[in-house]
Amino acid sequence: MNFDFDEKQRKEILNTVSQKIEHFYTNTKDYSTTPELNLQEIRNIIASENLVSGTEPNKAIEHIITGLENYSVHTPHPKYFGLFNPRANFAGIIADFITASYNPQLAAWSHAPFAVEVEAHLINQFIEKFGLNPKKSDGVFTTGGAEANLTAVLSALNNKHPDFAKNGMFGLDKKPVIFCSQEAHHSVQKAAKIAGLGYEFVKTIPTTKDLKIDTDLLEKEIKNLNNSTHSPLMVIGTAGTTGTGTVDDLEAISKICKKNGIWFHVDAAYGGGAVLSSNLKHILKGISASDSITFDAHKWMSVPMGTSVFLTSHQEILNKTFRITTEYMPKEANELEIVEPFSHSIQWSRRFIGLKVYSSLLFYGWNGYEKVINHQAKMGEYLRTKLTENNWIIKNSTELPVICFTHQKFESDANFTKTILDNILAKGNSWISVYPIKNVPTFRACITNYNTTETEIDELIEELNKERKAYQD
Ligand SMILES: *Cc1c(COP(=O)(O)O)cnc(C)c1O
Repeated sequence: MNFDFDEKQRKEILNTVSQKIEHFYTNTKDYSTTPELNLQEIRNIIASENLVSGTEPNKAIEHIITGLENYSVHTPHPKYFGLFNPRANFAGIIADFITASYNPQLAAWSHAPFAVEVEAHLINQFIEKFGLNPKKSDGVFTTGGAEANLTAVLSALNNKHPDFAKNGMFGLDKKPVIFCSQEAHHSVQKAAKIAGLGYEFVKTIPTTKDLKIDTDLLEKEIKNLNNSTHSPLMVIGTAGTTGTGTVDDLEAISKICKKNGIWFHVDAAYGGGAVLSSNLKHILKGISASDSITFDAHKWMSVPMGTSVFLTSHQEILNKTFRITTEYMPKEANELEIVEPFSHSIQWSRRFIGLKVYSSLLFYGWNGYEKVINHQAKMGEYLRTKLTENNWIIKNSTELPVICFTHQKFESDANFTKTILDNILAKGNSWISVYPIKNVPTFRACITNYNTTETEIDELIEELNKERKAYQD
């Protein structure tokens, strides 16, 4: 068995793959947004493949691509108005292919100096974009926002408790408490579970009418902590909540944190993309005073999954949190002014995550991104206008292209949103979701695709109007 195949076979395989991908990429709109969720059928298809002696490569590729095409929500579809899953841009797709082929090991600088330096360069660019002090800041690529938020919790613990790395929670005399809004992402609770705090110690603060964290209540809750048994560890502000795209008042949170000596983390997994547009970046005011930031490039920068950054204005903290000395890791680079990625990160062996961002910047530039972000914000505005013209009412308030809405006539009818959502998903022309705002269900549509234009939005409006009319009759 030749694991490499020969040149002719490789070219044939690549050719098949590239034809299939090209077909999907150019005709994405012809696909159904919604897959059939037939569990038994999917399991049978997988179980019928011969994994003992293997199969012919072209047949294998046919099987994989048919499986993905028939049984996925097509997030790259221009009418996927869904969660923050983008259409992956071509530069990022190519980067993942190149990364897999060269398979650089980014754990140690000396194994992959070009790749590590590319990531370091990009981290510095993000630090500047978000307005952190380049001389005093640091950061690392992570696999996603969940890993970045966990990194933030661990950094805050190690910053506050000098012996945390050695003694862990056992060394603390008070229970650390994390504050965030009720609209914050649940990866915060997950991070508290993994870090060993327990999710009971995530205190979620109610939101104001405009769905931002209530900073008066936040201040009150911090004051009300029993400070003989509990101590405030960090406040997490969200820039672009997952449900409604709301940006918390980051300046106000920052002031509260400064006053009380609390770590201020901004979860800008989605909304951080606003920093790339001079029209939009004002909504992130206050982020530059944060102790740390989460930003997912695999959301608004439309690179393939597994690409996020954690940034911090505490240059020493990643090293303090993650450094381990070993005998077997290469040491040649120790004298140089470099960072060993394995000692700054939860991960050890590391994939070249940052190449997807680097190739995108090489292909499109920050200027290209600014255009794309502005286009998507404009499409959000267009959707809001069209909805209002058609007697739908907007229930959230944000400059980001996340729109939560319901219809004047059916605002208090819970069955309305459910019925219409089921019908829209069953038809597979568009993908939207339902999100409850203060317990009232609303439709949620987000522009996540740089290829979504007025045409697709008009089609969505038409579909919504038709469904509403059918429900009414
Ligand atoms: C998506 C998201 C996360 C989780 O990030 P992953 O990349 O999915 O791990 C965290 N916070 C917010 C606000 C998000 O939108």
